[in-house]
Amino acid sequence: MADTKQVIQVAVPRPLHSVYDYHVDGDMALPALGARLRVPFGRSEVIGICVSTHVDNPHAKTKPVSEVLDHDAAIDSELLDLAQWMQSYYHYPLGEVLATVLPSAARKGSQLEIKPEPPPDIWHLVDPSLISPRAKTQQAVVDHLLHMGDAQSGEALEAAGFNRSMLRKLEGIGVLERKVVSVRHQTSEALSPSSEQQTAINAINAAVGFNVFLLEGVTGSGKTEVYLQSMAKMLAAGKQVLVLVPEIALTPQTLARFENRFGSAGMVHSGLSETQRLQTWLKCRAGEIKVLIGTRSAVFTPFESLGLIIVDEEHDSSYKQQDGLRYSARDLTVKRAQQLDIPLVLGSATPSLESFYNAKRGRYQHVLLTQRAGGAKMPRYHTIDLRGQSLRGGLSDTLIRVIRAHLEANGQVLVYLNRRGFAPTLVCKACGWQSVCSDCDARLTLHRQPEQLVCHHCSLRFTLPTHCEQCGHHDLLPVGMGTQRAEESLAELFPDIPLYRIDRDTTRSNAQLTAQLEKIQRGDSCIMVGTQMLAKGHHFPEVTLVAVINADAGFLSPDFRAPERTAQLVVQVAGRAGRAEKQGDVWIQSYQPENPLLQKLMSQGYRGFAEAELSSRLQAGLPPAQPMAMLRAEAFDPTLAREFLTHCKAALESAAGSQQDTATVEILGPIPAPMARVAKRARFQLVVMAATRSALHRVLASLGQPKTHSSLRWSIDVDPYDAM
Ligand code: ADP
Ligand code: ZN
Ligand code: ZN
Repeated sequence: MADTKQVIQVAVPRPLHSVYDYHVDGDMALPALGARLRVPFGRSEVIGICVSTHVDNPHAKTKPVSEVLDHDAAIDSELLDLAQWMQSYYHYPLGEVLATVLPSAARKGSQLEIKPEPPPDIWHLVDPSLISPRAKTQQAVVDHLLHMGDAQSGEALEAAGFNRSMLRKLEGIGVLERKVVSVRHQTSEALSPSSEQQTAINAINAAVGFNVFLLEGVTGSGKTEVYLQSMAKMLAAGKQVLVLVPEIALTPQTLARFENRFGSAGMVHSGLSETQRLQTWLKCRAGEIKVLIGTRSAVFTPFESLGLIIVDEEHDSSYKQQDGLRYSARDLTVKRAQQLDIPLVLGSATPSLESFYNAKRGRYQHVLLTQRAGGAKMPRYHTIDLRGQSLRGGLSDTLIRVIRAHLEANGQVLVYLNRRGFAPTLVCKACGWQSVCSDCDARLTLHRQPEQLVCHHCSLRFTLPTHCEQCGHHDLLPVGMGTQRAEESLAELFPDIPLYRIDRDTTRSNAQLTAQLEKIQRGDSCIMVGTQMLAKGHHFPEVTLVAVINADAGFLSPDFRAPERTAQLVVQVAGRAGRAEKQGDVWIQSYQPENPLLQKLMSQGYRGFAEAELSSRLQAGLPPAQPMAMLRAEAFDPTLAREFLTHCKAALESAAGSQQDTATVEILGPIPAPMARVAKRARFQLVVMAATRSALHRVLASLGQPKTHSSLRWSIDVDPYDAM
């Protein structure tokens, strides 16, 4: 064998088998592990990652690598290990895992080079009166700067949704002035911690090596201050810190809290361009950015010397990617902290039952903050029995009276409900027919302005029918409550009070949301009505009343996670009340106020609820007692989807049998998904449960690449968040 060809393995971003043998020939140097390579693939070329340079039984006929793009690794060994771990944990092709880990600019071949940047700048207001009349976004910039106290960094303004070309335009007409600054100074001092905060800070600071802390602190207990003081110690030791926050919580206010303490912070959010994202990635890798704050995908950032990871609101669903590679960023932080042998802090007022269970079993250190910071009191809970009550647009007389009393005392009122639009269904008064989507097994939601029926599952829009499709009757009745309807009735009841609706329809952009929140934070008496966007992270010191229009649906859903999610939402939204000196009240309307879960929550708080719910999960053998995976399949032809899963089930069962896992592996289904048809595709699911993780992974791995059909979509979801 006088073969001088060096064979290597390259992971390419393609489904199915994604690791292939290639060779480097001639005078090309052997690429580094983790380097990007251009390789021929099919009739074209793709960019892949070198994942092995020692190939035991190389393929006989290999193609040559066309170009080595990186001298060193693009993906360092720690992230490469993480990717390999994800491949076997999520049962996803390595090439596609790596494509998720790399920023998209790097994936497309951009040079991995830090570019000198314009120096940090600050924008000041000069003459707000010069803005063009009726230019809403210009007004929004001005309002924002007034709210934030005149000056803001360009970076923070971009994060708030204002782009630089608009800022420059305003500079041109004399509204703004731009100043270049050399160094940003910290503007806020550490607060003096409460004794509970101090205990938490001490515990985290004392950690040596891999330690997971579950920081369970009631809403308003000052978890952020605990993060900041734990971070300060790491930064002083020259280490870097990664902070993950939920999607919706990455507001300019959040960034400002960290920037004001540490002078600067990097940020990863959806508003960044591909180039900006890559630059941030590179600067973290080079150790230039010390504090990185980001949403889910920031978990894949390389660091020169990471010393601490913090996950705020660790229970939040936005940490779980719901398509493609269905990873949980929270769970990945545990893996990374373990690999790097560093501490990790998972913070929440309403911990996921997974983390709660790990704390109970002693895997995580449980640190509690039971008191609100700065002397604020916890809100009081009350329920309103809706049975036999007459309602005005979903609001009971009791609730209307309570709202009026709070407004008269100059409080702000927050009305929460989980449906956007006007009404969740349109029903025929004569025969009970309901308007449904043509392409989904779903009822249509009535929207106003413009008036139309919208499918919240496939986004199709329909004009309003003039009569019933079933009996021809003309009386069609909107049934149920959406945010638009609540807004309408509140406007009628309280015509003189400013009213803000906050849901996905009113806040399409970051700038819109920022503008709305700023008006609210001026503190004048007002009503906010909105969806869960209101429940997350925001600090509304003037809110004294939180009203929950209806908490019932969540406690009755077939999804085993629905009660947990509902309790978290109720507690989080309730936590917006009474954050300052004033006492807060929470009123919850319900048709079954005696529901035991709701009762637990009312009387013992989230902790009592979590204990009860965890013990029923453990009894039923549901996660976190046993690990679960979900196989989903969808196709226009229902038979195709069902048969595919039946075939998978047989394969899984035979693997379980041959591996003596029969007794420990349970496979349920295939059954139609709870939403059995979406966008004309029939959907089925198969649930796989196992007594142990290793048994689960053994049977899933045995599935390999099942024979599939081009019109079939399927996926494996390990630790599914939506169990439906
Ligand atoms: P959480 O995230 O736990 O809901 P925050 O971190 O938002 O709570 O803190 C709530 C409020 O309490 C903030 O306004 C914060 O500045 C204030 N706060 C936190 N710690 C202290 C402290 N030790 N002394 C005074 N105020 C504090
Ligand atoms: Zn009818
Ligand atoms: Zn639809």
